[in-house]
Amino acid sequence: SHVSIMDIPFINISQKELLEQYIYPRLDNQQKSYIVTANPEIVMMAKENRSYKQMVMQADFIIPDGTGIVMASKMIKNPIKERMPGFDLMTHLIGYAEDKKLSCYFLGASEQVNNKMVEKLKELHPYLKVAGSHHGFFDLEDRTILEKMQMVQPDFIFVALGSPRQEEWITKYYQEFDKGLFMGVGGSFDVIAG
Ligand code: UDP
Repeated sequence: SHVSIMDIPFINISQKELLEQYIYPRLDNQQKSYIVTANPEIVMMAKENRSYKQMVMQADFIIPDGTGIVMASKMIKNPIKERMPGFDLMTHLIGYAEDKKLSCYFLGASEQVNNKMVEKLKELHPYLKVAGSHHGFFDLEDRTILEKMQMVQPDFIFVALGSPRQEEWITKYYQEFDKGLFMGVGGSFDVIAG
């Protein structure tokens, strides 16, 4: 079920339901997924920028990140059951990847933050398969990183380029992958790096 806020259709299910009913089966079938975790800033940007809105609307799942979205849903009398922080979802998926021996690619943040974050994740998740990682300060037209990623075929691609850059990167290259869960994660790498 969905709740539309300013024309953006948010999923209205719990994180557990999202994972068990949708995400895990899609991973089992190697079906690609694109997740947008949308906060009020993203909703406003989509309202103001038609091409950005199209990038957001291509997502398989738009999840309500932040209390502002839940508050807005209450005001339109179509309440979203649960806020779903993107950071939480990402950490769940990383734990799942470790358990299931699925590989992760980490794209984004400064080189220093990116390296530190990968180091920390390896400490926290000793069996995590890190397919690769790269900082987020590159030209979106540059295909070098893409080509390296295609060679390792990661199961998860976490993209921390901020908005709108992360949605631009994902929608630009999504169709060039045969599998993978693509998720824009904003400033999450900075949080993990500490
Ligand atoms: N970032 C990046 N490349 C860029 C711009 C930003 O990798 O060209 C990274 C930045 O270092 C940070 C992340 O994107 O780790 C999220 O940035 P910000 O907090 O500005 O975005 P938001 O979370 O608000 O979408």
